[in-house]
Order: sequence, then structure tokens, then C-alpha cells
Amino acid sequence: MIEARALDHVGIAVRSIESRRGFYERTLGARFAGIETVPEQKVRVAAFLVGAPGREVRIELLEPTSEDSPVARFLEKRGEGLHHLAFSTDRLSERLEALAAASVPLVDRKARGGAHGTRIAFLHPAASGGVLVELCEPGD
Ligand code: ZN
Repeated sequence: MIEARALDHVGIAVRSIESRRGFYERTLGARFAGIETVPEQKVRVAAFLVGAPGREVRIELLEPTSEDSPVARFLEKRGEGLHHLAFSTDRLSERLEALAAASVPLVDRKARGGAHGTRIAFLHPAASGGVLVELCEPGD
């Protein structure tokens, strides 16, 4: 079992962060929390926070930085929109081994580097009935 602690963030695939951020900032009233590039996933990630301080939900807009980015392939197939839900957990490597042993469909059998120093891994959408699920473990 994953023992997910919280919904860490919602990932949304966009072709252009600049052309989509207005909705989150001005329409939704989300607070911009920074942009970073995650080379391992070939994306730029813009983070926005919604909700009261200390209880925010993070929304991440994902923009591909190259045509062979997984997010670029997602955009080609499905267009812009909800890409994944991310749940925070601990002992990620151990949990991935247990999930693999239980035949849960995984995209990543090993954790890799995510935004802001986290370690992440994706479960295959077939595991959940169509939603790509990310597990993330805070960095040190
Ligand atoms: Zn994510």
C-alpha cells in the first residue's frame, strides 16, 4: 500500500505556460510560486498555490521543452488538460518494489528526480482506471 499522505499537486499539461497562467492567477486567484525546468522529464513547471496558507493545493502547469518529452506526447494524443494527480508518500523505493511485486502497473519501477528536489515515480493509468498517478517523496 502507498499510504498516500496528501494530495501534493495536480499536474496540468499546457502548450504554453505564458498563455495559460492568466486563468490560474487572475480567474482562479492562485498565487504564483515559481517556474523551474526539470531536465529529466523535459518540462518546464510553473507552480501556483490555491487556498489558505499552510493548507494550499499546488497546481503545476507542465510545458514540454522538447518534442520527445512525455508531456509533448500527451499533448499530441489528448490535448491540453489534466495530466496527473500527485500524492506524497515516504519510503518511495520500497513502496515501488512492493507495488511491482503486487503487479500494480507502473510507469517507473525506480524513483527519479522531480521538481524542487523531490523523488517521484508514476503509476500507469491502467492501475487507477485512467488517471496517471504520481507518487512523490520530499527531497532532503
Ligand atoms: Zn507532478
